[in-house]
Amino acid sequence: MEKQELSHILVILAGLLRAVGIACMIALIFMGARLRYIFLIALLTVGGIFTTVLSFLLGILSFTHAVIYEVVVIFINVLVFFHAYREKKNLPPPKPSETTRCVVCSAYIKPNQEYFVLRCGENYLYFDTEEHLKRFLENIEEYKKFRNLQIKEPECYYIHSKRIWVDLKQKEVGVSKSN
Ligand SMILES: [Zn+2]
Repeated sequence: MEKQELSHILVILAGLLRAVGIACMIALIFMGARLRYIFLIALLTVGGIFTTVLSFLLGILSFTHAVIYEVVVIFINVLVFFHAYREKKNLPPPKPSETTRCVVCSAYIKPNQEYFVLRCGENYLYFDTEEHLKRFLENIEEYKKFRNLQIKEPECYYIHSKRIWVDLKQKEVGVSKSN
């Protein structure tokens, strides 16, 4: 094939790389993932597109190497995306403030003592004991009316002392890396 035809294939692959990069970035922005991952994907995408096509045209990379390079960049983008997604999912909830109270018994939540956090969509509910968390889950409709809570279905809960999230549906446990 002519060099021009080959570079067309690279441009098509670059289009795929761009599409994957943009899709990953939009998903991460909506997820509220860390900015560093969004920048990293932007850099990989823009850098990947320019360097592959350019280095092929300049004869620095052979066609095969340029294709491998582009595919590898796409693969790295997807890896960065999943890493950011997992980290976001396992990130600890916000620390309780001075006015945070247990939803069940209204006791103040002390940040340096044991507490439990229930995640319902974007909302976090705090409990001073596991027993109160369980009581809330068993009588969720009553507590929602009683406390006038506008919350989504509970997904998982956080055990402060163990720094882990426990899924309510599966038994999957995610260990949080940062504080
Ligand atoms: Zn309580």
